[in-house]
Amino acid sequence: MAYTVTSHPDGERSMKADCLHHGCGWELGPTADPAAGERELRLHYAETGHGTFARNFEDVAVVVLADVAEQQRRVEVDALEYAHWGGADEDAADDLRQPTRRVTR
Ligand SMILES: [Zn+2]
Repeated sequence: MAYTVTSHPDGERSMKADCLHHGCGWELGPTADPAAGERELRLHYAETGHGTFARNFEDVAVVVLADVAEQQRRVEVDALEYAHWGGADEDAADDLRQPTRRVTR
């Protein structure tokens, strides 16, 4: 079975950057808005002349089947099984039963 790694559609993406000018130490903290992040880099350059940065981009990755039809079939089966076994209500009830969680029914 072939798998594909992609960005999770509901996952957050962020960018952060560090100025590489020796001794500067300027950092751009994580931002979910890359355009705003790039504006900050331009501003830092305009103020200091430092124009080299290490950028880091972060996302939430998800592995799915490369066969889109099979992936969709499995999502639907998982949803049916989840609902059959009680869904969120059963999850909450299980949480109250800890530490002995039932494995089978
Ligand atoms: Zn700098």
